[in-house]
Amino acid sequence: MVEITRDVVIVGAGAAGTTAANELKKAGLSVVVLEARDRVGGRLWTDVVDGAMLEIGGQWVSPDQEALKETISELGLETYRRYREGDSVYIGRDGERRRFTGEIFPVAPETEKEIVRLIDVLDDMVAQVDPDRPWEHPDAEALDRVSFEAWLEEQTGDQEARDNIALFIAGAMLTKPAYAFSALQALLMAASAGSFTHLVDADYILDERVVGGLQQVPLLLAERLGDDVMLEQPVHTILWDQDGVTVLTDGGLTVRARFAILAHAPILYPWIDFTPALPRLKQQMHQHISMGFVIKVHAVYDRPFWREQGLSGTAFSPYEISHEAYDNTNHGDERGTLVGFVSDRDADDLFRVSAEERKARILESLSHYYGPEALEPLVYFESDWGAEEWTRGAYAASFDLGGLARYGADLRTPVGPIHFACSDMAGAGYQHVDGAIRMGRLVAANIVEAAHR
Ligand code: FAD
Repeated sequence: MVEITRDVVIVGAGAAGTTAANELKKAGLSVVVLEARDRVGGRLWTDVVDGAMLEIGGQWVSPDQEALKETISELGLETYRRYREGDSVYIGRDGERRRFTGEIFPVAPETEKEIVRLIDVLDDMVAQVDPDRPWEHPDAEALDRVSFEAWLEEQTGDQEARDNIALFIAGAMLTKPAYAFSALQALLMAASAGSFTHLVDADYILDERVVGGLQQVPLLLAERLGDDVMLEQPVHTILWDQDGVTVLTDGGLTVRARFAILAHAPILYPWIDFTPALPRLKQQMHQHISMGFVIKVHAVYDRPFWREQGLSGTAFSPYEISHEAYDNTNHGDERGTLVGFVSDRDADDLFRVSAEERKARILESLSHYYGPEALEPLVYFESDWGAEEWTRGAYAASFDLGGLARYGADLRTPVGPIHFACSDMAGAGYQHVDGAIRMGRLVAANIVEAAHR
């Protein structure tokens, strides 16, 4: 049994936790970061699988993600642009594969008109939403009672237009079916990226990657903390009162501190035993938050063969198992990598079949976009975050229907000395690394202020 004392104990060495720890240290406070896993980074994980470097977790950086971009540049990391030369591919409701350029999918003219109109409607609504306070929108209550699917049904009778608009938020972002989250939650998702138009524009939202992998961000931040990051220390108990916390880990560590930061997905709070229990509002709220679910699929080939066909690698279809896929070739790599995503119900279904069948069905879907060569990768890997005890889904957590208007304003409110920080409670950068860094900075500033009171 080892006992240590610090000003602040931080639970979780992801982007939020490592950012908060560095900010607190800069302000002269002593910290320790307790991490359950045997590695730093949480949902950022760059690894070599069968000789191929893969971004198992988050990887892309977009122009609006200022906090992440500042951190990348401050850490001396280099970025490169996603490959985007050539035609994109869309597979429509009729099963036809069509090549296109630009952002709007090649659909029938009347469907295209509906898609463009809906993007305008959503952009106007999103402009009225403060991503830090979506519950303050004048129609917040009403928008939070209706599912995004039902809201879209009220807007247009064009099924393919609805399927495409839903895809940008449901399959591609919240990774939940569009009937499982509200229109307000959809507006928050778009507002957190600046506009709905940004979500439609893959070249914007999936703009750059970090040479060597995005996990370097938390790894380098953790390096600055030295021995103050402790791995394999799952926190199971927090005893607290107004003066501070005592935190106990499965690794046999006891930490006493004036403040604690829970820097992990909010769905994991109930796995910690709090004494006294968290206030009833928090206990209720945490039952209305759940993780989305997506399989990120990596397929590495001897060369980026799709480029020879004049394809950018960018591919979409609400009707395919892999609803979106991209050229994910690493910087300076001769081999070609495709990355595809299988979301929510499709992911559930594929985990009901054998690993061989799952692989065959996912590669079949990729071959619909890129042709038969996609069926034979040299390396194949599925990122399965649903099976990870310390994450339990991907990409992130969101409220169920009605939860955002009812509880959202209280999500970040501290409980005595316990503060909360995670990408899943960010405004700008919500569900992204940028949001994790913003929340890490914010909570550190709040603690510094409280410490000097
Ligand atoms: P986490 O990264 O989840 O860190 C929390 C840490 O807390 C973890 O290390 C966990 O092990 C630890 N922990 C949990 N419970 C305990 C406990 N009881 N005791 C001790 N430690 C504990 N974002 C982007 O910006 N761009 C992308 O392209 C992108 N793609 C993604 C693809 C995938 C497959 C996934 C999964 C995510 C993606 N994201 C992306 C989202 C992004 O990775 C996350 O939003 C961000 O990394 C979350 O950081 P965090 O610090 O808030 O939480």
